Amino acid sequence: MLEEFKQANIEVLSNKADIYPYAFDTGPISNEVTLPLLVAMPKSTKDVQTIVKICNKNNLKIISRGAGTCHTSGCKPCKNSIVIHFSKMNNILEINKENLTAIVEPGVIVGQLQREVDRFGLFFPPDPSNLKVSTIGGAIALSSGGARAFKYGTTKDYVINLEVVLADGSTIQTAKNVSKNVEGYNLTQLFTGSEGTLGIITKAVLKLIPKPETKLVTMAYFNSVEEAASAVNNIISSLITPATIDLLDRNTIDTIEKFNPSGWISYEAMLLVELDGGKIEVEENNKKLYEVLIKSGADKIIQAKNETENEKIWKARRSAFACTAKLKPNVITEDVSVPRENIVPLIKKIDKMCKENNITVCIMGHAGDGNIHPNFALDLSDNDEVMRFNKVKDELFQTAIELNGAISGEHGIGSEKKKYMKDSLDKNAYVYMKKIKELFDKNNIFNPNLMF
Ligand SMILES: Cc1cc2nc3c(=O)[nH]c(=O)nc-3n(C[C@H](O)[C@H](O)[C@H](O)COP(=O)(O)OP(=O)(O)OC[C@H]3O[C@@H](n4cnc5c(N)ncnc54)[C@H](O)[C@@H]3O)c2cc1C
Repeated sequence: MLEEFKQANIEVLSNKADIYPYAFDTGPISNEVTLPLLVAMPKSTKDVQTIVKICNKNNLKIISRGAGTCHTSGCKPCKNSIVIHFSKMNNILEINKENLTAIVEPGVIVGQLQREVDRFGLFFPPDPSNLKVSTIGGAIALSSGGARAFKYGTTKDYVINLEVVLADGSTIQTAKNVSKNVEGYNLTQLFTGSEGTLGIITKAVLKLIPKPETKLVTMAYFNSVEEAASAVNNIISSLITPATIDLLDRNTIDTIEKFNPSGWISYEAMLLVELDGGKIEVEENNKKLYEVLIKSGADKIIQAKNETENEKIWKARRSAFACTAKLKPNVITEDVSVPRENIVPLIKKIDKMCKENNITVCIMGHAGDGNIHPNFALDLSDNDEVMRFNKVKDELFQTAIELNGAISGEHGIGSEKKKYMKDSLDKNAYVYMKKIKELFDKNNIFNPNLMF
């Protein structure tokens, strides 16, 4: 089989030392480590088609991998699998100012695309916190969100057309390169967020928007999570639309301050609000925001005075996961999404069950979207702690379902959450999702361990 890759001129890694890192992603570490048979690094769509054909012939499974930073073990190889890594398909092929589009290969880094389009006065809003490393292919496959989703939506709102390699090695264009399109079913949205289970994304046409003229970051400290959460609703009902309304609990604030001192103050809760837009609009909205925050009980409000201070706050906020990882040997981030009105019961329940089970948790999230991330600091070599954590995890997803929420807001299902899918989804939705998988990939060659 290795010979077939060589004959087709496809670059591969096959030494054990080289392929070992590809047995892992940011998902929880498990005792069983499965190595891929090899890692293929295609340079073109044609290479990807050839890889799929070789794999079909040899009965091999295919695991797509961008930066491997997904939290749900979506990139972990299974028995008899190869990994496709897109580091050599990382070109921005076009930035079109008239059409407001970018055409990119899947290995392009999200942050790099943002920087490149910024030079044209344009903006690609999807904003996973790890945008310095995460790839467009991974972001599309997960429909990654991030802190700006409240105003701008998630990756799915910026995908216009995809080129995808299907299970038989053929390609499909999901749509045309037009911003308005109702030609038949919306295949673009079907592949977006499908976690690489239906096909391999080899090219994407993305929507861009004009870059906002200015932005302003505010940190508002509260004496309770309830007050902070009701401030979120007050901001929204005052008809301001901030780009970001993130909520961080005391443990998150203290942990960031401990490992990445940034001048943050220890309070029960903090709201991080970013306004953006035209200068006058931001000034006017800022006056309204300030009033709402005071009326909602904010005890202390600190606003960035310039872009450097904006960036300093964001740098600290983006370090939340890395800082939590320093509390204990391991960190697991979970991701649930509830209607905004249920944020307080959700956070209270997480806090209660972690206290009862002696689990360390830092709770944060995109409160504007009802999307909460508890970051659990754990020692996975401690079997008792693992048992207590698993109990908390089961209860977390059960609680999200009971609160009319979803078991993922932006990290996907992967292999980690598939056991909760049936409970969470409408019965018929689950049946039809499985049928869609079978239709596109009847031999289950793409990311076979995910979702179902
Ligand atoms: C510190 C940290 C912060 C994060 N912050 C956020 C956040 O704020 N918001 C958020 O939504 N997520 C966040 N994430 C989760 C995740 O990293 C992002 O969603 C990211 O965009 C995934 O990109 P990636 O290149 O690492 O994808 P990968 O992890 O490599 O892949 C993700 C999934 O997509 C599939 N895939 C990858 N490329 C392709 C392709 N070309 N075709 C088909 N399938 C493909 C993979 O098989 C896998 O199932 C964070 C992760 C970390 C570690």
